[in-house]
Amino acid sequence: CGIVGYVGATDAEPFLVDGLRRLEYRGYDSSGVAIHCGESIHVTRAVGRIQALADRLGPTPRSGAVGLGHTRWATHGPPTETNAHPHVGGDGEVVLVHNGVIENFQELKDQLTAKGYSFKSATDSEVIAHLIAEGLKVTPDNLDQPNTKYVTAVQWAIAQLRGTYGLAVLFRDRPGLMVAARFGSPLVLGVGRGEFFVASDASPIAGRTDRIVYLADHQVAVLTKDGFSVLHKDQGKIRVDIQPLSVE
Ligand code: GLU
Repeated sequence: CGIVGYVGATDAEPFLVDGLRRLEYRGYDSSGVAIHCGESIHVTRAVGRIQALADRLGPTPRSGAVGLGHTRWATHGPPTETNAHPHVGGDGEVVLVHNGVIENFQELKDQLTAKGYSFKSATDSEVIAHLIAEGLKVTPDNLDQPNTKYVTAVQWAIAQLRGTYGLAVLFRDRPGLMVAARFGSPLVLGVGRGEFFVASDASPIAGRTDRIVYLADHQVAVLTKDGFSVLHKDQGKIRVDIQPLSVE
């Protein structure tokens, strides 16, 4: 029921765990984080309190300055470790967290299964991860703007979804990139200096930066440590208001 993400210059893990704690009030049954370690993305999940996840992660943060985290309130599939997010798509090319409900997940799951994708969880969310992996397959490389392929794959995938989503996505082969998207589930961006945050609401970001962007439905955010941009489904790249975030 909550999402956090970090792209920047310092290790992501401390922000992610602290951010998930600040989202605890929203309610959840399990949690998880993914850290991009350069070559691969490392996923850790646990059932129960954030403390169970923190215990599993141990006292020394994994090194990696790009990562995402999730608190789950199960809608499809029981609250088990396997059903906890982040979920992995394809052969590990895509790692994703999702809040919301995908109504046409069974239909998409059947299509993806027929294409050879194998599902590990009972969630609706895993469908999105595999769909983005399929999107990467059908989208040509763009050598001038390497991030474009990844953004296009996400747009291709979400165009097929019916339901609600707040998403944050990492790509194994594009270590510095995070893509976030929303329709019907809240998502904000924290704009720092050389670092950017994603969260379901402002609480994880308060005290880290005083500049915030409230994403609207049909918007996709593209984040690297050097900057961010926001795209709209129909309008392409758009200007967004960066608003002051007051710390109480
Ligand atoms: N529908 C998804 C699931 O059951 C996401 C639930 C949530 O928003 O936490 O895993």
